[in-house]
Amino acid sequence: MASPPPLTEDLLRKALSAVVDPELGKDLVSLGMVKEASIDGGRPRLLIELAAQSRHLKSQLTDSIEQAIEACCQESGSAWQGVEIAFKESSPSDNERVKEEPSALPGVKHVIAVGAGKGGVGKSTVAVTLALALARSGARVGLLDGDIYGPSIPTMLGLDDSAPAVRGSNLLPFEVHGIKAISIGKLVDPDKPLIWRGPMAHGAFKQLALQTEWGALDYLIVDLPPGTGDIPLTLAQLLPLTGSVIVCTPQRVAQEDARRAARMFQQLGVEILGVVENMSSFTGKDGTEYDLFGKGGAEILAQTMGLPFLGNLPIHPTLRQNLDEGTPQRCWEDEQELGTALDGLASQLSNRISIAAMAAPTLEIR
Ligand code: ADP
Repeated sequence: MASPPPLTEDLLRKALSAVVDPELGKDLVSLGMVKEASIDGGRPRLLIELAAQSRHLKSQLTDSIEQAIEACCQESGSAWQGVEIAFKESSPSDNERVKEEPSALPGVKHVIAVGAGKGGVGKSTVAVTLALALARSGARVGLLDGDIYGPSIPTMLGLDDSAPAVRGSNLLPFEVHGIKAISIGKLVDPDKPLIWRGPMAHGAFKQLALQTEWGALDYLIVDLPPGTGDIPLTLAQLLPLTGSVIVCTPQRVAQEDARRAARMFQQLGVEILGVVENMSSFTGKDGTEYDLFGKGGAEILAQTMGLPFLGNLPIHPTLRQNLDEGTPQRCWEDEQELGTALDGLASQLSNRISIAAMAAPTLEIR
């Protein structure tokens, strides 16, 4: 009986284009993760590039790759002889490259991105309150509303009726509640929906970040749009980031989105300084605690991904009310527990920033 035909490289590539990265939701070939694919004596040999060296991910990918190639062999009548898979760490990522050049904002010590897997989880709330809490601890803080598809920071800071001042070709940030802030929401007509094509969004965000007179800042907090779109990539290619914060609600479905956001930051070479669990629980006036969306899910996510956990922010109606009314500083005045929770998150974050800054390689001058 004739032996089955060997597997070809074309078939191998086809098989790999059907293997989907479980976290990024795209196939390995489109993601550019397959660095080498050859066949040696009928046995495929692969080199797969990963931004994050996760044992769990490697084993998931190994299983999916084996299944896809075996299925492809069965379909084409080729001999299945197993597969040899090697994983390698990705080459310098976007943000690592930016960090090697002089910063476009030399007066800013730390740029911190706040992201989330999806909208409505409290990303802007966390960005605003972290900025205020850091400023209350004595730091010079800027807040850049980069959520160009749904800028909510003007409302949260009470800037709905203010227009930004301009000096030459630069914007002057608003100085409110002890921080400096700028928002794309202030540069467009609020009655017209923000529909940006990719390059427009990129340009608007770049202008906002670079043409604002930030002056000297300890922290520039950037509120990103939710999800894994173009703006995080633009930011990572533009400014050296100390790291990112991921906001996640406790539900399982939210964790899966947050995991994707985490992988995106890792892919861009942006350190994840920590995960914040928002809307963890609600405590009624009688002291009864209600876990409306569950509790602890984001902490589990952080643990399974090996990420720091910055803490929980429970549901506080006063938080919602003060942000709707543009009086965020009142969160500290109205409810002691809320102020303590917000200060706790900010102090965890500034600890992680210090650790990240200490671990960052310093330039060797010869
Ligand atoms: P995102 O930026 O993720 O879309 P927002 O920060 O705009 O979400 O929050 C959505 C809504 O939920 C806002 O009205 C906000 O005030 C409210 N909110 C967020 N976190 C909390 C919380 N911990 N307690 C009460 N309300 C919250």
